[in-house]
Amino acid sequence: MLTIKSRCWICMLPVWHSAVGICYRCEKKLTLDQPRCLRCALPSESVVGDCPVCHHRSISWQGTVAAGNYSPPLSKLLHQFKFSSHTALAATLSRLMLLNYLRYRRHYLWRKPDTIVAVPLHPKRYRQRGFNQSDLLARPLARWLACTYWPDALRCNQIRVAQHTLGRAQRQSNQKHVYDICADLRDRHVALVDDVVTTGATAREIVELLQLQRVASVQVWCLCRTL
Ligand SMILES: [Zn+2]
Ligand SMILES: [Zn+2]
Repeated sequence: MLTIKSRCWICMLPVWHSAVGICYRCEKKLTLDQPRCLRCALPSESVVGDCPVCHHRSISWQGTVAAGNYSPPLSKLLHQFKFSSHTALAATLSRLMLLNYLRYRRHYLWRKPDTIVAVPLHPKRYRQRGFNQSDLLARPLARWLACTYWPDALRCNQIRVAQHTLGRAQRQSNQKHVYDICADLRDRHVALVDDVVTTGATAREIVELLQLQRVASVQVWCLCRTL
């Protein structure tokens, strides 16, 4: 008798390759992606050159890969992963990031990084959640791509407060010195993994620190891009 091993995380129909976690039909819908700006990963008519957003806020890293927009069903999956502790979703979500990175590598000749680092959580948040979602996304990517993964390369020193709740001076200090680098990444080609890129402030701050360390290049890889 044929046994059903697993169900699709999105439509709940059986999937025969349980490691993939998403059925063929749902994956096809997820990967039917609109063209994106290579620099910031926002939807854009042209992928070459800076989009209007990048034009106003210069991006100093090589580019951003996103598996999709922060909208259902991807946002729902991320929510289950982060807030309902469905950590079994990590490999499924990492695989979507991998497919997008490989597409960029094939089409736009993006370099393969030699080192992967993940956006860290503040220790207090880590204790509350029990895991760092970006760390769980980064681990399979490093394994599949045979890159070095440095889980402790970055440290988060303070919990960032929502910007809109702060005054101007507080906003500026809220943006600064949140992260530290605890590893020597000089001359390395680095991929920075984050679960969601919203304004890009986190990526910008970490990339600035990496560039002060004279890394050779930085790519930002995220699961979702907020529109
Ligand atoms: Zn499905
Ligand atoms: Zn852009």
